[in-house]
Amino acid sequence: MHHTGEKAPRKILIVGAGFSGAVVAHELSTSISPAPEILVLDQRSHIAGNCHTLRDSSTGVMVHEYGPHIFHTDDLETWKYVNSFVPFRPFVNRVKGVHNGAVYSLPVNLHTINQLFGKQLGPAEAREFISSQADKKIGEPANFEEQALKFLGDRIYRAFFYGYTRKQWGCEPKELPASILKRLPVRFNYDDNYYSDPYQGIPESGYSEIVRKMLDHPNIRIELNRKFVPEKDQNGFDHVFFTGPIDEYFGFKHGRLGYRTVTFERHEGIGDFQGNAVLNYCDPDVPWTRIHEHKHFAPWENHEKTVWFKEFSKETSEKDIPYYPKRLTEDLDIFAKYEKDASQLSKVTFLGRLATYRYMDMHHVIKEARETARKFLALVRA
Ligand code: UDP
Repeated sequence: MHHTGEKAPRKILIVGAGFSGAVVAHELSTSISPAPEILVLDQRSHIAGNCHTLRDSSTGVMVHEYGPHIFHTDDLETWKYVNSFVPFRPFVNRVKGVHNGAVYSLPVNLHTINQLFGKQLGPAEAREFISSQADKKIGEPANFEEQALKFLGDRIYRAFFYGYTRKQWGCEPKELPASILKRLPVRFNYDDNYYSDPYQGIPESGYSEIVRKMLDHPNIRIELNRKFVPEKDQNGFDHVFFTGPIDEYFGFKHGRLGYRTVTFERHEGIGDFQGNAVLNYCDPDVPWTRIHEHKHFAPWENHEKTVWFKEFSKETSEKDIPYYPKRLTEDLDIFAKYEKDASQLSKVTFLGRLATYRYMDMHHVIKEARETARKFLALVRA
């Protein structure tokens, strides 16, 4: 392999053992010869960040500790990549929605429309019907609510989106970007697959096992329960990859970025509690957003006992784990300042959901981390 002695980094620090950090560690340790020394720090007691999975000691069920993670992508390269670490099993997320004492099919599809309106429309009729419900006055939708009203109309919006979104984000849907709603498909057929991607599944042995394998290299050292302190921990490293919250890296000097966090209420029992992996509770008067029963994420396993979690959403305080970046206007103004500071640092690369302050799925995170590693390798080889 071609590399220049002076420039090839010998010591690399990676902050965060989630997918971003693990992919970069794996790529650099396997592509630079001889492999550099890589230290990975994480403040938690485990690897894999919010994708962490573990076997529940009481029920034996594989639990997604920080909430449901279903892998889906339209990128064959990313799909092959994750499968090269552990085998994935097919899994299709078929979420149900609870509204006003009844259970509906989600994401909004022909079944949902016929259920809600008590009709038996065909695809073309349903398109026409929904278009008659839609708010024609809205041009380019400026926010979540306008996006919903323009494409779905008031009744569907109130039934499935308004309450859930208020609970999930703690603000009026008018204050949120239309892009959040665009994550969800609307279908005029009976396809109830929550995602539209061609490659979907769940790793047989859990997500933490993928990360463990990515980090399994003699030159990669992992230190857990280790809070990163920029002023002292970066010294002596040729390059730092930082995957934590960007505002924390800069000591919150421009203020804190807004995040929503989620909390879980654990329940266990015998048999099957709800008959499905995820039920969304769409009404505003039910305090939780959804219930997930984790044995259904691994239908290839058999368990007598079952464990389920009620999920609640709230504002993130200093002690909480940040989950969803809010990205309100004031947040984006603050973020722009941090981004400018970050661009001044040539020896620190910021990547991943928390360091780039974006709503990212696992496949995005993995793809971007591979690209980041590739760019870095091209630079050190130049
Ligand atoms: N959403 C909703 N009702 C639902 C499901 C989703 O209003 O039953 C809205 C909500 O604002 C949510 C967004 O759509 O934040 C994106 O949903 P998704 O299921 O992609 O959220 P995630 O799985 O990332 O929490």
